[in-house]
Amino acid sequence: MRIRVTLEGVVQGVGFRPFVYRLATSLNLKGYTLNSREGVVIEVEGKKEQIKKFLFQLEKSAPPLANITRRKIIHLSHQGYKKFLVKESQNKERGNLLIAPDVSICSVCQKEVLTTSNRRYQYPFINCTDCGPRFTIIKNLPYDREKTTMKKFKMCSFCQEEYEEPTNRRYHAQPNGCEKCGPEVTLVESPGFIVHTKGKMAIKEAIKLLKEGEIVAIKGLGGFHLICDATNEKAVKRLRRRKKRPSKPLALMALDVKSIRKFCVVKQREENLLKSPQRPILLLRKLSDSPLASSIAPKNNYLGVMLPYTPLHYLVLKSNLLAIIATSGNLRDEPMVIENEEAIKKLSSITSHFLLHNRDIYNRCDDSILEIRGKGGSFIRRARGYVPLPIELPFKLKEILATGAELKNTFCLTRGNLAFLSQHIGDLKDYESLKFYEEAIKRFKNLFEIKPKIIACDLHPDYFSTRYAFEHSSNCRVIGIQHHYAHIASCMAENGIKTKEKVIGVAFDGTGYGNDKRIWGGEFFVCNYRDFRRIAHLKYLPLPGGDKAIEEPYRMAISYLFFSFGNDFPEIEFTKRWRKKIPLVLSMIKQKVNSPLTSSIGRFFDAVSSILGIRNFSTYEGQAAMELQAEAERAQRLNFKGYNYKIERSNDICIIEPELIIRGIVKDLENEVSKTSVALKFHYTIAQIIESVCQEIREKTEINKVCLSGGVFQNGLLTELTGRGLEKGGFKLYLQRKVPANDGGICLGQAVIANFQK
Ligand code: ZN
Ligand code: ZN
Ligand code: FE
Repeated sequence: MRIRVTLEGVVQGVGFRPFVYRLATSLNLKGYTLNSREGVVIEVEGKKEQIKKFLFQLEKSAPPLANITRRKIIHLSHQGYKKFLVKESQNKERGNLLIAPDVSICSVCQKEVLTTSNRRYQYPFINCTDCGPRFTIIKNLPYDREKTTMKKFKMCSFCQEEYEEPTNRRYHAQPNGCEKCGPEVTLVESPGFIVHTKGKMAIKEAIKLLKEGEIVAIKGLGGFHLICDATNEKAVKRLRRRKKRPSKPLALMALDVKSIRKFCVVKQREENLLKSPQRPILLLRKLSDSPLASSIAPKNNYLGVMLPYTPLHYLVLKSNLLAIIATSGNLRDEPMVIENEEAIKKLSSITSHFLLHNRDIYNRCDDSILEIRGKGGSFIRRARGYVPLPIELPFKLKEILATGAELKNTFCLTRGNLAFLSQHIGDLKDYESLKFYEEAIKRFKNLFEIKPKIIACDLHPDYFSTRYAFEHSSNCRVIGIQHHYAHIASCMAENGIKTKEKVIGVAFDGTGYGNDKRIWGGEFFVCNYRDFRRIAHLKYLPLPGGDKAIEEPYRMAISYLFFSFGNDFPEIEFTKRWRKKIPLVLSMIKQKVNSPLTSSIGRFFDAVSSILGIRNFSTYEGQAAMELQAEAERAQRLNFKGYNYKIERSNDICIIEPELIIRGIVKDLENEVSKTSVALKFHYTIAQIIESVCQEIREKTEINKVCLSGGVFQNGLLTELTGRGLEKGGFKLYLQRKVPANDGGICLGQAVIANFQK
């Protein structure tokens, strides 16, 4: 009996063909395997029983990183093969193959790198077919060494032998190498580019510098990190000062979960995700008593922590450092630096120590950030370890490019039922990020062979992603899509909501261009992929100073207080502190000078944060709201009811009036109710509003499915309270799990909506 099996999915660069070889030979089957345009092709010939076993094991014991999306089997006549061969790639076209993301060092390589007798003892680039770099070094497909940045390293005879031997665990491991033939690290001093030491000595020296409190820029997998000892307050503060990053939380890396438990709570689900081959940064609850520097994440109950994912990180942390800061090596909003010379040029104002290596990073890829929410993870940033694996959709799409939003930008390309989302690009207002964006779009189009005829973009005319869409619109149709509708469609698509099916969409967000040219962000929709109807929204209030009010939440607080009290501001702490500014801001509001109207819930959180005296100026996006959340999480969860609120109903739309909420908050402050209680009560209120508006919509429409999306749902407390209320009320709840609820997930929604437009 002879059959031919064709497998599609992630089957290249994950040790698939060696696995097939071992399986076939162990079952005494003859034939061959090769990579082709369709995927991995296998022909096996032998006894029927053995072939049955082969097919069973093929799926059951496939390598951990393989992901078979389709299997096709055809029966053929006898051929008389003499042995089983691994053949060269027959057709160098890419077709249906997927590219594997980068994979953290595996446990076997971890052992080898610490074994003194191993020839790769302390070699910081050890890898095998189950682990190592993938996406970050791939220039083109198929995934062969020639097409990666490993091309310049010629393997020594030992490495070559491993590479060619099908039973070896480094068989066709494209980044294979050793101290003799592979990449190496160097410790460099700037200015002057003085090479200090190389190899093992360089790592030792870098560790010494870290222990002395120095900052070292270390080249990693998808870019540079700025690293220092996380227990050294002085070092952390110096890093903050030099990076001009006063308070945004810094990411940490620690050797193992045991170490992390010295400063964070790690639950079982969190441990599993930390240890996964994707090795994301995970937000974990801080212990109140911690040996770490307090300036790592001030006014925040969480720390972002990851385990080492390259052998180099692993070796650095094997030195008894409890934890290191591992923040992106960049300036302000620029993308992470990936090249050696660029690093020295740009990061010399922050440090003079550089631990470099000579394996080039081709595709920049930041660390992914997640948080565990209930039963699963929820993305804050989707990049290394996950990109470029596609999101599978419940229907087929045309070939579309969706250009995303402005901040936290990602874009997406679609083909068949797959959506390929880019890695986190960043803030497109930054010139370097924009260059990265344009280059990444080109690369994705090429890698996945997608030639879009439709470009989907935001409605905001000034977003760089919108401009990009129009500038590249020859032979393409450009479709503008409302920001919050795209948020909801993203949630619908990743949850497999079917075509034409309607849902209630709750889009709570910071900013987004509305159909009426106002700034939306507190929206209730009824929608399918074809169109949406706005059923309710937070009352429009002026945003005095426009974008300035986003950085200076006290302005929005004045707007809310004016709306609730008119000119008679209550005598609370806030009024005293801002007595001088209030008339100025009020005149802007009254004369409608640079005060666009907004229904943004994000701004409502900002206003409350400022009224409570928690945050009046934000140094990073969402800071005021995040600190309000942190305050609320410190409160005792007693039997709180939220504040009163009012919903104005007219024929076609409901308006959520915040006046009573603000009055309630002020009254509590006058009665000296603690900030923490007020903050929590505010969260309850918002959750209750969502629940009751959804109920009203359900009564009218009989729609029972609710999708929550938008940046505000990064607030875990709000999501938890809302989710609990909705589920108690019998709603079927959908959250974003596969892509971020913030603007990093919006491109998926844009693509899907564009697909269904006539
Ligand atoms: Zn390995
Ligand atoms: Zn070698
Ligand atoms: Fe948004």
